[in-house]
Amino acid sequence: MLKTTAVVIGAGHAGLAMSRRLTGRSIDHVILERGEVANSWRTQRWPSLRLLTPNWLTRLPGQEYTGDDPGGFMPVAGVVATLTRYARLAGAPVRTATTVHSVRATAQGFEIHANDDLLHARAVVLATGACTRPAIPGIAGAIPPSITTLTPLTYRDPGQLPGGGVLVVGASATGVQLAGEIHRSGRPVTLAAGEHVRLPRAYRGRDIFWWLEATGLLEERYDQIDDLTRARHLPSPQLTGTSRAPMTDLNHLTAQGVRIAGRLGRITDGVAQFSGSLANTCTLADLKMNRFLDRADQWATAAGLDDDLPPPHRFAPTRVDPRSPLQLDLTSGEITTVLWATGFRPDHSWLDIPALDRAGRIRHDGGIVTSAPGLYLLGMPVLRTRASTYIHGAAADSQALAGHLQGFLSRPAA
Ligand SMILES: Cc1cc2nc3c(=O)[nH]c(=O)nc-3n(C[C@H](O)[C@H](O)[C@H](O)COP(=O)(O)OP(=O)(O)OC[C@H]3O[C@@H](n4cnc5c(N)ncnc54)[C@H](O)[C@@H]3O)c2cc1C
Repeated sequence: MLKTTAVVIGAGHAGLAMSRRLTGRSIDHVILERGEVANSWRTQRWPSLRLLTPNWLTRLPGQEYTGDDPGGFMPVAGVVATLTRYARLAGAPVRTATTVHSVRATAQGFEIHANDDLLHARAVVLATGACTRPAIPGIAGAIPPSITTLTPLTYRDPGQLPGGGVLVVGASATGVQLAGEIHRSGRPVTLAAGEHVRLPRAYRGRDIFWWLEATGLLEERYDQIDDLTRARHLPSPQLTGTSRAPMTDLNHLTAQGVRIAGRLGRITDGVAQFSGSLANTCTLADLKMNRFLDRADQWATAAGLDDDLPPPHRFAPTRVDPRSPLQLDLTSGEITTVLWATGFRPDHSWLDIPALDRAGRIRHDGGIVTSAPGLYLLGMPVLRTRASTYIHGAAADSQALAGHLQGFLSRPAA
């Protein structure tokens, strides 16, 4: 049995950031990773994906972006290279090809079963990712068997799809990006759009993430957010990692020729039925976007920046085609593929500790699993602030949790 003070599970950006913090505090630890460093980016992302956060924001503890394109958007290969370099320079103690099968609490700490080994640690940090499984609604079971179904974890490029029409379900960043890419390959695409977050790529000459950061929105703490559960489940904004298109929203897709339908509610006898409230959903998304732009303008005025920035303006409302379909017969041959872009979820099913709620999600207080002292969670949406959803948020989160972990270690073991 290997004994170490702390075990970090997962060598994505969150696990690596935590490792860096533990090393800075001279806390002996090991990172267990089932694949290689940046495994999710190597194996679970489609090749054309670019980060929707700009390069200047892709910073980790002790590492800023130093390339020559701070306003650009990193391709997947760039993320893999960045994380691999980060792990190497930090000398991160990563054990690759090591899958954790269970974590159990004992009187002295935790027992971790990984491959055929048993490890013991006083503290465990779960950094296994928020997006390791697709979140697929139960109605997926009613899809006719003749239809090819894919998720963003299995999608690679349009060449992998059979000929014919494609129904993309979900209009978050993933849904709008993939609907656009598949449409450009020559296939007719219908996009089922439920609740979504509409934002422009840039506003008044600055990237939207500049505004999100400057106005303090990303720094809002988890314990100050009114509806935290909702905040943690918000769809990702309709953004693409390109500055060529000012918007990659529903208007942009409609102009390209993508057909927009409402939320996919039911599939009965092979017929997909869409909500009739698409216009309302879009009005709400427009309203929320404008509310944020109002906040941005107020902040700019208060900061005395109005003379340095282009004047405020508003974007055209989302245009909803009154003929948008309310149903689509999936047995007619018109649609050959359904792509579920309905979100992701973490997988902690291997955790042998009663810390999960009914939905299988870990109960925690800003990443501290209070029901199992010494257990921590990192890399989840809005874990401690809204920035936790993004790569750069791991810097502050790992700092806070490493501090708590150090305090925990200073107490005598039970
Ligand atoms: C499509 C998509 C686009 C995104 N775009 C952006 C973006 O533009 N900007 C941004 O800031 N964020 C983005 N994110 C969000 C976020 O940065 C990623 O989800 C990120 O990969 C999470 O990092 P992580 O370190 O928490 O988890 P991961 O990168 O998923 O790392 C978890 C690691 O744990 C390992 N692991 C899992 N289970 C086990 C086990 N049982 N034993 C051992 N190892 C295990 C995995 O192999 C993996 O390497 C995006 C996410 C997705 C899904």
